[in-house]
Amino acid sequence: MKQVDPWIGGRSASDAGWPRLEVSSPCDGTLVSSVALCDGLALDTAVAAAKQAAPAWAALPVSARGRVLRAIGDSIRRHAEELIDLECAETGKLRAEMSAFLTVSADYYDYYGGVIGAFFGDTINLGANQHAFTTREPYGVVGMITPWNGPLSQATRGIAAALAVGNAVVLKPSEFTPSTSVRLAEISEAAGLPPGLLNVVTGTGSEIGAALVSHPDVAMIAFTGSVATGIAVARAAADALKPTMLELGGKSPNIVFPDADLDKAAASAATICTSTGQQCAALSRLIVHESIQETLIRKVVALLETRRPGPTLAPITTPDQYEKVLSYFKVAEADGARLVTGGRAATEGELERGRYVHPTLYADVRPDMRIFREEIFGPVIGVTPFRDEEEAVALANDSDYGLVASLWTRDLSRALRVAGQLQAGQVIVNGGRTGVDTPFGGYKASGWGREKGFEALHGYSRSKTTVIGLDR
Ligand code: NAD
Repeated sequence: MKQVDPWIGGRSASDAGWPRLEVSSPCDGTLVSSVALCDGLALDTAVAAAKQAAPAWAALPVSARGRVLRAIGDSIRRHAEELIDLECAETGKLRAEMSAFLTVSADYYDYYGGVIGAFFGDTINLGANQHAFTTREPYGVVGMITPWNGPLSQATRGIAAALAVGNAVVLKPSEFTPSTSVRLAEISEAAGLPPGLLNVVTGTGSEIGAALVSHPDVAMIAFTGSVATGIAVARAAADALKPTMLELGGKSPNIVFPDADLDKAAASAATICTSTGQQCAALSRLIVHESIQETLIRKVVALLETRRPGPTLAPITTPDQYEKVLSYFKVAEADGARLVTGGRAATEGELERGRYVHPTLYADVRPDMRIFREEIFGPVIGVTPFRDEEEAVALANDSDYGLVASLWTRDLSRALRVAGQLQAGQVIVNGGRTGVDTPFGGYKASGWGREKGFEALHGYSRSKTTVIGLDR
């Protein structure tokens, strides 16, 4: 069993007095990690280390910071196999899926290591006897809190941008999947990141997470996780007037018009199997024109049924989340949704020792049903038919969430018209690509602020205006 301890001020910290959490493999229930649940003193030490390291880092020319970031990206690639092993052990992800997340994680450092050189303020013309300009300044110490579903990619997404603008980071990963975050800090320092700029405190949300949010020397919070915790974090941060970036849940619609390429649309719906639906951006609501509904359902189901729990469909990561997904099968049945495939745990043979479910599709899902409204975070699609464009948009927007919306049509005018009306931070038309360079964040209960892309550099920095009166 791997011992996971916090990484503070450039070294691994351990204390015999800390309680430990034993994390079991989602694949077969064996114990994989023993995680230190560190105390407030450890957090204070981490914040102090970050506070001390930040000014010298911020004072470097951006080209020097960029070089270090790109070296970290290279190092992540060199340590790919090890990082993939660590994250697969705790999350249960398939190696192929984790390999894609690993690539993205390294790409964040390449991207921010490059674009930081083009991130600067403005000059403002106030006339001949004035000189006015803005500069972008780091916050100092950024507190970052991440969930269990994509620990390395979610941490690197924020860390690369926060470091690029000159901050130091104290990261609190999920207590269920902290290994890659700790290892990231180690390999970042070996690649040239000065000690103290990335500290990882392992522990529970209610203790260390909450203490990080309210710590007086932490100037900004970047939180990724559930809506309920996001609200608690925002409340606590508001008490100290601390800015927050909140990346929360989703219940994203995937709208298919009759003129769409149905094979591609079906393939996009089947991406619900990626990370077994444990993705904030999962396209869990298939909103389809009534004339093509049954054809599309057949195509999606055929794809879902190619995924075999175990070899080609990962398990559910945590025991609580597994129980939650199973409970939604009962909810869907009670609400009267039509089960087309799945709807049950996968317990055949060896699978019984793990936390597996079958990919699932329900048809005849109405907006008043809980599976239309609530984030399940599992491989579950609900299909809702529409008659016309207006109804499609209304159904898509009939959600507390607004993270991603996808739509499929060959009619460019309709695509732009509908995209303009969708309440979501990202709209994907006909499977358009998103990446490290495209801003990502929510409308409504999916949060605020933007990670990824150039916009994140604004989120992790603040603007200062300097005005100089000149003698003429
Ligand atoms: P969670 O909210 O339970 O936990 C997230 C993190 O917050 C964990 O590190 C946890 O320890 C910590 N935490 C818990 N209570 C806290 C408190 N009071 N103060 C500070 N920190 C606290 O979420 P989860 O179950 O780990 O993750 C799943 C959720 O994350 C889903 O809702 C999913 O949609 C969301 N998510 C969002 C994005 C995004 O980018 N929008 C990405 C991935 C996951």
